[in-house]
Amino acid sequence: MTTTARSAASGQSHSETIPYARDLPVVRECDVLVIGGGPAGIGAAVGAARAGARTVLVERYGFLGGNATAALVGPFMTSFSNDGSRQIIGGVFDELIRRMEPLGGAIHPERVRSGTAEAGFYRFGHDHVTPFDPEVLKVVAADMVTETGCALVLHTSFVDPIVEPGPEGRPATRGAIIHNKGGLQAIRAEQVIDCSADADVAFRAGAPTQKGRESDGKMQPMTMFFVISDVDDAAVEAHIRAHPEEEGMLFHGIVERARAAGTFPLDRDKIGIYRTPEAGVWRVNTTRLLGLDGTNADDLTKAEIEGRKQVFALLGFMRREVPGLGNVRLREIAAQIGVRETRRIVGEYILTQDDLAAGRHFDDVIALAGYPMDIHPVDGAGGGIQAALDAGLRSADVYEVPYRSLVPLEIDDLLVAGRCLSATHEAAGAVRVMPPCFAMGQAAGVAGALALEFNTTPRRLDPAKIQTVLRKQGAILA
Ligand SMILES: Cc1cc2nc3c(=O)[nH]c(=O)nc-3n(C[C@H](O)[C@H](O)[C@H](O)COP(=O)(O)OP(=O)(O)OC[C@H]3O[C@@H](n4cnc5c(N)ncnc54)[C@H](O)[C@@H]3O)c2cc1C
Repeated sequence: MTTTARSAASGQSHSETIPYARDLPVVRECDVLVIGGGPAGIGAAVGAARAGARTVLVERYGFLGGNATAALVGPFMTSFSNDGSRQIIGGVFDELIRRMEPLGGAIHPERVRSGTAEAGFYRFGHDHVTPFDPEVLKVVAADMVTETGCALVLHTSFVDPIVEPGPEGRPATRGAIIHNKGGLQAIRAEQVIDCSADADVAFRAGAPTQKGRESDGKMQPMTMFFVISDVDDAAVEAHIRAHPEEEGMLFHGIVERARAAGTFPLDRDKIGIYRTPEAGVWRVNTTRLLGLDGTNADDLTKAEIEGRKQVFALLGFMRREVPGLGNVRLREIAAQIGVRETRRIVGEYILTQDDLAAGRHFDDVIALAGYPMDIHPVDGAGGGIQAALDAGLRSADVYEVPYRSLVPLEIDDLLVAGRCLSATHEAAGAVRVMPPCFAMGQAAGVAGALALEFNTTPRRLDPAKIQTVLRKQGAILA
């Protein structure tokens, strides 16, 4: 193994390398190894284990949920068609919500309508979102994963894939090198599912990937979420009733006046807040970190430091200027900066904006979604759903994700699910939200298990077999 050395003072890479090789203990063997326990990874682990595979799920944090817990991202965007007429994401996602509900940890999307406080007062694209409590999610997700018999390995990071010659002449993943308090170790697996969000496994295995916009590689900005309590819910509601023009642009008037006066502390044109299932407690999705790369530790460090500063600057502004937020208290800042976009694999099929606009049918459909394009600009204060609509980026009420978008080129026995699927920058700007990630993950898990059962590679697997098992597992495909 060769490691790139970095100067401790500057953090910059330089050309010196050091050889690094040692024998590692193989601590586990399994059929399907899932890397990353966010929405996609939870779906993949449950899908694979329920399809009969001996499954291991590796997650670097001490809990599951990915952005939904570590980055405090929410609500779950819609799991319904964009016109709100029918639920189109079921399976693991729906089961999770239904199990969280009795614990007070979620409101099922069938009861949450657009234009409400839980939908951040958005109408378009926000019908049937799911407000939830991340602490309840951590508990229920761990129960769901471990009940299947899947071995959950927390506090453990993926380091490198184990790559060996595969049955079809291409390299194939056969497990991973991991690191935790026990040191460097290996897990052997027949199939690996990359749910790291950054395509870490695919990239290190040598599969082709791309980052950000096709034209220049620039990526959507990051956001540090935080949660506030003691919000005067009625006063916020009264403000939006008095300012219907701010639907989808909450507090735009106040923000624009402050920007003109030079007193708004951020590069944003609105303040995005969403009520949680708990009265007076809202999430804030507003801070903005531009021009940074979520696969670069120096950039992530900068984002964490600057993101937390922005939280306090915004809190001060809210208390001074925003109706209903005068007495808010900071309940929690996310443990991790929210990264919207990094690498995506180049797979057997690249999902495009045209596919979403046409609601194109794919014979190998493995997930449906209805959330519209929502692209935060690589620079500037605007962006979001309205900006995408203004730019002519529209999607059908229901669109499909093909299985081939989970199958990377050049590497066998590897599947990818979640926000690093094979899609254009624009299509990923819609399908990246969490409910479709659960659905893609579940499909990848089922496919990994079936590839073993039918003694083939995921690339050669008949998608009809995946669809049959997905339907049995409660997924919605038609
Ligand atoms: C600022 C922001 C706002 C958003 N708003 C919304 C919203 O309101 N609603 C919505 O539905 N979606 C929203 N999204 C999109 C959504 O959160 C993500 O696209 C989605 O979480 C992706 O799911 P995932 O499972 O692919 O990745 P993640 O949720 O990122 O999960 C990846 C998991 O892999 C783990 N992991 C990564 N690398 C390693 C490694 N090397 N070893 C071990 N584990 C590893 C991580 O710890 C994490 O648990 C938002 C995203 C951002 C950043």
